[in-house]
Amino acid sequence: MTASKLLILDDDELTGQTIRNVAEFAGMQVVVSTLPSDFFEHLAHWQPTHIALDLVMPEMDGVQILAQLGEMAITAKIIITSGVGQQVLQAAARSAAAHGLNIIGILPKPFNPRAFRELVDITSSESHLLLEPQQNQHKSVPALSVNDLVMAIEQRQITIALQPKIECSSAALVGFEVLARWDHPQFGTIAPDHFISFAEHNQLIDSLTQLIFSQALPWFKGFLTQYQRDTSQRAQPLLCSLNISALSLQNLSLFNQLEALCIAHEITPEHFMLELTETGAMEDPVASLDILTRLRMKGFQLSIDDFGTGFSSMLQLVRMPFCEVKIDKSFVMTVQESRESRLVIKAIIDLAHSLGMLVIAEGIEDQSTLDFLQQLGCDKAQGFFIGKPMRAELIEDWLAKRHLHIEQQRLHKLHALNILDTPAENRYDRITRLARRLFKVPISLVSFIDEDRQWFKSKCGLDVNQTLRQHAFCNHTIEHDEPFIVSDATQDPLFVNNPLVTGMPFIRFYAGFPLKAPTGERLGSLCIIDDKPRFFSDQDRALLIELGNMVEEEIATNQLLAEDHLTGLLNRRGFESRAEPFLQLCLSQQLSASLIYFDLNNFKAINDSQGHQAGDAALQEFATLLTDTFRDSDLLSRVGGDEFVVLMINQTTSDIRQVMDRLKSAIKRYNDSVGEDIKLSFSYGFAIAETPQDFELQQLYMLADEAMYQSKRQ
Ligand code: C2E
Ligand code: CA
Ligand code: CA
Repeated sequence: MTASKLLILDDDELTGQTIRNVAEFAGMQVVVSTLPSDFFEHLAHWQPTHIALDLVMPEMDGVQILAQLGEMAITAKIIITSGVGQQVLQAAARSAAAHGLNIIGILPKPFNPRAFRELVDITSSESHLLLEPQQNQHKSVPALSVNDLVMAIEQRQITIALQPKIECSSAALVGFEVLARWDHPQFGTIAPDHFISFAEHNQLIDSLTQLIFSQALPWFKGFLTQYQRDTSQRAQPLLCSLNISALSLQNLSLFNQLEALCIAHEITPEHFMLELTETGAMEDPVASLDILTRLRMKGFQLSIDDFGTGFSSMLQLVRMPFCEVKIDKSFVMTVQESRESRLVIKAIIDLAHSLGMLVIAEGIEDQSTLDFLQQLGCDKAQGFFIGKPMRAELIEDWLAKRHLHIEQQRLHKLHALNILDTPAENRYDRITRLARRLFKVPISLVSFIDEDRQWFKSKCGLDVNQTLRQHAFCNHTIEHDEPFIVSDATQDPLFVNNPLVTGMPFIRFYAGFPLKAPTGERLGSLCIIDDKPRFFSDQDRALLIELGNMVEEEIATNQLLAEDHLTGLLNRRGFESRAEPFLQLCLSQQLSASLIYFDLNNFKAINDSQGHQAGDAALQEFATLLTDTFRDSDLLSRVGGDEFVVLMINQTTSDIRQVMDRLKSAIKRYNDSVGEDIKLSFSYGFAIAETPQDFELQQLYMLADEAMYQSKRQ
């Protein structure tokens, strides 16, 4: 066994000598330096196993030296000697450990030889490390030499681990970050914190990065191909994130190599996100801007890593061509206890979004942090809670486990809604009828995907209540965030033999919108089905999304608050919250919208002469007659005491006159059957939206109201 080597830095020669005596007595080789320059020289050439460092020296900054050791990825065991208070020493030790340094102890002055001996003795037993260096998978990392690293790169001992990223809103996989690992033949896996900055300081970072590229691209190509096959090519595009050292920004040939690899593996640069640390990217703004812009022009995407820890100004952020901001994990990991962290995160998200950039948060270690980020509108997430960095061969297993986890959460949410096996409800049927009519298809459904069946909450044009899940098209829809379209099922290998295609209802065309719970779980779908193949235009897609959003609104709202208890129609609040998206839909789809305003003329008289019960009955009767006369897809509401409105889609003036004639005769029939005192009489006025302003509910109300008063005057 070779002797331990102790390098001492202490500006006080006498203290240095004292430590030397004790250490030599304990069998160590010792070198004492009183100046940082000597110290770093010995460090490089003599390669000590132990370092004793005075933190407080009048002429120099011990903390700075500690930081420098961290940057050099020094793996020697470090003893801090100083006369400062315990609290300062602890803080220094913590920050050193965060840099990946091995701090084995603190030796306060005045200096006690026994304490030192004990410290040096226990260094052989790793479990007594004062602070474990972070992310150090192998407990004792060997002292590194430049030669070791050169050899490691040559022999391809540096390999890759992949950490998944998901979309916050849907939990869908959106990509992986490639992270370097050193598979050391003796020491096992060494984390990058121990060798990246060492590589940077020794001009090895570019060849290391090149080695990472040469593994990342073939892996990603293979993964992408397999993944697209498994998800039938309809999943959203995946990104592969690569870490780029700021020093590499000067090396154009590195990026040329990356481009060549893209071509060789037939992956477009758009699939790659280059992660640059904030400080690194900003150091030389002019030069950085130049190369970053060129990379963007080639199609690569750029992300600012560790955002929030550097000193970039807003202006630089605006000027640099970044697509994504990555919030540093120091904020994310302290969300629960630190109000500041929460404020910083919110500010970063708002800032990035206002500049048109996406935001990803890393370091997510629990569900509540993920929920918090989702609420703030963070776009993507990465962290141990979602997945730790893993070897390529373990990804498949991770994907399977994740799928199971998402499915369990989904079912939990669906069952908590208590919607399965409930009676049909007009508020859902209204939307499926509308969908059927607007798309001119025979079938439209709201379906929910239960454990092994799909169950229909609303079924327009279909007679069954449920089908097997394994046959359900909607079972595919819930795998996606976007509408899922099958233009011709008989031409689609996934569906050609499906019993719903080969038998009743002979599906040829299918378009489904994935219905999400407010918390993001995909519960089922709003879909339209045709027995003929069909082309689905962008406008069709937009319409389906709008209708789907309406169903999601219904799932999220408490129906009791939206309903008028007396008549069962929508109350004013329920009406207005539905009328807005309804009118928007008409406007964007260039469909007409019309509003009829009704006022009962004699409600007050009935109430006064016959009592409240008779008054209530009159209102209920009128509501029933409205419901029977108008279409189920129209919005009917009692907006006030004796005032009612109907909002209709796609009706001409003559259509409205016809339906009003029907209503009048229905009222007449009713009036003929009851006594004089409770006969119904009403006034009405209607308006059809013509200009874009008319599609504002207030405006339409006003126009219809005016029309009513005009007709009253006549
Ligand atoms: P980074 O780019 O900020 O990478 C994220 C680091 O955070 C990874 O550590 C990852 O394992 C860790 N991490 C992710 N989620 C969590 C979490 O929930 N909790 C905690 N505690 N940690 C989490 P890793 O792999 O040790 O990498 C450390 C750093 O080394 C990276 O920080 C990056 O700066 C550098 N690095 C790694 N690979 C490369 C590379 O190929 N090239 C360059 N230039 N730098 C690299
Ligand atoms: Ca990174
Ligand atoms: Ca980072």
